[in-house]
Amino acid sequence: AKARGRSRHEFHSESLSERARERLALEADLRRAIAEGQFELHYQPKVGLGDAHIVGAEALLRWKHPERGMVPPDRFIPVAEDCGLIVPIGTWVLQQACAAAAAWNRERPAGDPLRIAINLSPRQFMNHDLVQTVRDALDASACRPEWIELEITERLLLDERNQAEDILNGLRALGLTLAIDDFGTGYSALGYLTRYPIGTLKIDKSFMRDITTRPDRAGIVRAIILMGHSLKLGLVAEGVETEEQAAFLREQGCELAQGWLYGRPMPPQAFGEHVAARITP
Ligand code: C2E
Ligand code: CA
Ligand code: CA
Ligand code: CA
Repeated sequence: AKARGRSRHEFHSESLSERARERLALEADLRRAIAEGQFELHYQPKVGLGDAHIVGAEALLRWKHPERGMVPPDRFIPVAEDCGLIVPIGTWVLQQACAAAAAWNRERPAGDPLRIAINLSPRQFMNHDLVQTVRDALDASACRPEWIELEITERLLLDERNQAEDILNGLRALGLTLAIDDFGTGYSALGYLTRYPIGTLKIDKSFMRDITTRPDRAGIVRAIILMGHSLKLGLVAEGVETEEQAAFLREQGCELAQGWLYGRPMPPQAFGEHVAARITP
């Protein structure tokens, strides 16, 4: 029994160091990825629930690794956050997304702009230059602030160690809007909704899955929509995959949606064509 115990222990520590090695390898590869142009930003349409009119898109990071192929963001973003690389990667994302937003909006009729949503990691708020970084990204491509929405998480607002409040006020003062991503997961404190300059709630996709079959799930979504409206916040439902889900959300008065029903994340050129196909008769 003793021998078996030891071998099990050895097996365990071997698999641990295996994992540590794998992680270091991923980190080393991440360091090269920006310089070698391995990142791409894809864009997933965001639409009005009433008429499916495209109002914008969320920019989602893709990593095309030369040997591993497509590495999903849930795999590499946590690593990039831990080692701090999310800061330069996040700056690249801001520059790309602002340039894309400016290019698309220059071709659009005034009064019907596309708003591009960009994900920010809490780590990016730990350096005071974030407001300047965002301003530079807007200036570099003559992107108007109204064309950009920044998505942040509840985690950021509830961690008192960062200077989130000043930075968020600074970002809002630039003229951009702020959205809370994955709303309804993890935390229950709601006081921050009135403390910070938040404009939009993105209802987490985990609620959509059984919205039409589970009354408790439907109840949560209904409550979030009611609360959002009474606080004068915009609402976006994430992860909308079926017409039944869309119908429920429409009925509850949710304005905007995002999900496979309306389009998968796609490369910039494909998104441009997707939008053009919808506006030209
Ligand atoms: P997120 O911000 O919550 O993004 C939404 C995720 O839901 C995306 O996953 C998207 O592809 C997926 N999705 C969209 N519609 C549907 C649907 O109808 N059904 C289902 N099942 N899924 C749907 P993705 O692209 O794999 O990104 C995962 C996460 O990685 C994002 O979650 C975000 O937290 C993070 N991420 C992605 N790009 C960036 C970035 O540029 N910066 C930072 N900091 N994080 C990013
Ligand atoms: Ca997001
Ligand atoms: Ca989300
Ligand atoms: Ca998420």
